[in-house]
Amino acid sequence: MPEGHTVHRLAHAFAELFGGHRLAVSSPQGRFTDGAALLDGRALVGTEAHGKQLFLAFAGPDRHAFAGPDRHRPAALGTADGSDTATVEAEPRWLRVHLGLYGSWTFDGDESFRAPHAIGAPRRRVAEEEVAVRQAGVPVAGDWSPPAPRGAVRVRLLGEHGVADLTGPTACEVVTAQEKAAVQGRLGPDPLRSDGDPEAFVRAVRTTRRPVGELLMDQAVLAGVGNIYRAEALYRARLHPRRAGRDVPAARLRAMWADLRELMADGVATGRIVTTRPEHRNHLGEAGDVALVPDDDDRWYVYHRSGRPCLVCGTKVSEAEMAGRRVFWCPRCQRAPRA
Ligand SMILES: [Zn+2]
Repeated sequence: MPEGHTVHRLAHAFAELFGGHRLAVSSPQGRFTDGAALLDGRALVGTEAHGKQLFLAFAGPDRHAFAGPDRHRPAALGTADGSDTATVEAEPRWLRVHLGLYGSWTFDGDESFRAPHAIGAPRRRVAEEEVAVRQAGVPVAGDWSPPAPRGAVRVRLLGEHGVADLTGPTACEVVTAQEKAAVQGRLGPDPLRSDGDPEAFVRAVRTTRRPVGELLMDQAVLAGVGNIYRAEALYRARLHPRRAGRDVPAARLRAMWADLRELMADGVATGRIVTTRPEHRNHLGEAGDVALVPDDDDRWYVYHRSGRPCLVCGTKVSEAEMAGRRVFWCPRCQRAPRA
């Protein structure tokens, strides 16, 4: 399942590709026809991610100033004095998407449309590789036409220069601002959001005896962390996943929040989750020194490394099931809580 950094990448990608643009919205598969009709012909006026939820705001054809994250607002659409008072429909309609385990966005477009090829459920290993769409082709302005939908496309967003197709989501619906707020109200703080409150995370963890490894996966406690960030954040904090939430000192939780924010921001920037420090990586670079770019073998400390030596102490990594997913830890670096 994509973790929060992927959803934030999507929010940025949609802002850059379609921000302020009027879109043709359809449901080639037919399962979202009514929802698509509510958005068709409207302009994308905002994008937002909260944990694993993606929200895209659409406003009527007469109002299409873009009000997404500031740095993604197309300059041409800003207000003359640069203030934040661009005209935005008071009540945009929001498309809410949760990719779940199988959902995926696929992009295509002309030479001006630089997008990830696909984001979401892995389609071989290229799922998150950035590609310049049609870079290899001969660029001819105005020559692009959208490809036929491939697979069961729930929703297609079509702009002048490109298209985004959504397949296999867990959730895809049109919601009001109020309904969106209700969804967000059930989510815990997101380390990648500027309004993410670490103290809310600390409180939620410290008021329960549930194991911290379970709490990190609970989207009501912390939004956006998935199985890889869970295992790796626990390792980096030297916390055993079975440690009871209320037994974890607040200072360690605040440090873990800060660590996650940094790791996840790096994930947003690069599209990859890398949690190891260069000095802990096994393989050597071409010059024989420590490789700066980790390979699949040493980009994580414990995730999917059961039975293999810990990159720091050499002890074999353990695994167990927790919150329905496999969790991994080093029995020496992460001491088990006393029974
Ligand atoms: Zn270890």
